[in-house]
Amino acid sequence: MTDLYDRHRAVLPDWLALYYERPMELTHGEGRHVWGADGRKYLDFFGGILTTMTAHALPEVTKAVSEQAGRIIHSSTLYLNRPMVELAERVAALSGIPDARVFFTTSGTEANDAALLLATAHRRSNQILAMRNSYHGRSFTTVGITGNQSWSPTSLSPLQTLYVHGGVRSRGPYAALSDAEFTAACVADLRDMLGQGRGGVAALIAEPVQGVGGFTSPPDGLYAAFKEVLDEHGILWISDEVQTGWGRTGDHFWGWQAHAQNGPPDILTFAKGIGNGMSVGGVVARADVMHSLDANSISTFGGSPVTMAAGLANLAYLLEHDLQGNARRVGGLLIERLRAICAQLPVVREVRGRGLMIGIELVEPDSGRPNPQAAAAVLEAAREGGLLIGKGGGHDTSVLRVAPPLSLTVAEAEEGAAILERALRGA
Ligand code: PMP
Repeated sequence: MTDLYDRHRAVLPDWLALYYERPMELTHGEGRHVWGADGRKYLDFFGGILTTMTAHALPEVTKAVSEQAGRIIHSSTLYLNRPMVELAERVAALSGIPDARVFFTTSGTEANDAALLLATAHRRSNQILAMRNSYHGRSFTTVGITGNQSWSPTSLSPLQTLYVHGGVRSRGPYAALSDAEFTAACVADLRDMLGQGRGGVAALIAEPVQGVGGFTSPPDGLYAAFKEVLDEHGILWISDEVQTGWGRTGDHFWGWQAHAQNGPPDILTFAKGIGNGMSVGGVVARADVMHSLDANSISTFGGSPVTMAAGLANLAYLLEHDLQGNARRVGGLLIERLRAICAQLPVVREVRGRGLMIGIELVEPDSGRPNPQAAAAVLEAAREGGLLIGKGGGHDTSVLRVAPPLSLTVAEAEEGAAILERALRGA
């Protein structure tokens, strides 16, 4: 055990989960690589979704941050804030929501909290529809709507939450259905739920691709089909884009755009990699929904000039270098390569994903049951081989998660796949 780990355990909560039997300290990064305090260099196949959307130590972002920090960091509101106005203009224009307004926060949790505040105020209701197996944050309200019970440590939510089918289809009675049958079954389930006197529901919140839940995607169009039902009841659609935002899924800038047939969501939330590591979160909503609050609501740090400078520089870089296209191309190659590797491995049930958001679900070869032990072993072996990956899934954490920075090269994708192959063969 490292000295720092002992000190960590002495002062930080037990539920602050750390990866690895010997948790590691990262000292610096560059591009798609990070270095550990052990002096080793690692290819980073997970930091892209956690924080570093584009690349580690991206000069364009660090320059923008240090220049702004050297000029002024003040209240985000109370005074006019040029970088905040500029990023809001860009995000509003890209959001697909007409007459959009943007409110910045410092995290995804806070962005979803703000979305719930808006939706409940707008609809004068505290009833929320959420997806089974979902993850939306760690505050009192967001743990209350999180469907993945291993991340929901209290049942004392101030909201009344009903859980809808549709986020996961790899198990249970839904597994054998075609896309069209699955969509029809989930829509019928939603109609049935709303038909049982559940009038006045405020909103449905959903991740277009479940992140913590193990990178599971519903069939394209599922949320459009849901929207038709929601619209009949005046229920708002909140798309939690904290993991899917800004091109990660390759085909679209936002995840909801795979479900666009009946128009955009009423509210969308974003965070994580938007500031390429700086704490930028936010909520975008139609003006009438955003203006549902009838008293002031501000944030001291949400929209800080320095984090907004990071968001602006990151956005400019990723648009200029077409990193969404890169996610589609390199992610497509990586999924194909991983599928070819895993086809021969009985421990792998499925390789799935879109763009650079790839999940590998592990099972016990004989029983087909979730295999969290194998997932933990592969995570360790990959690290030994010089590759950092993530894990997730339902309560069982049996899905390996691959989400590198969006600037990943083909050579790096191949290098990472080769390390993963060796780690999986040992599982
Ligand atoms: N929503 C989703 C979909 C997430 O994946 C996360 C973080 N894992 C959050 C919300 C919460 O974000 P944060 O950790 O920044 O509070």
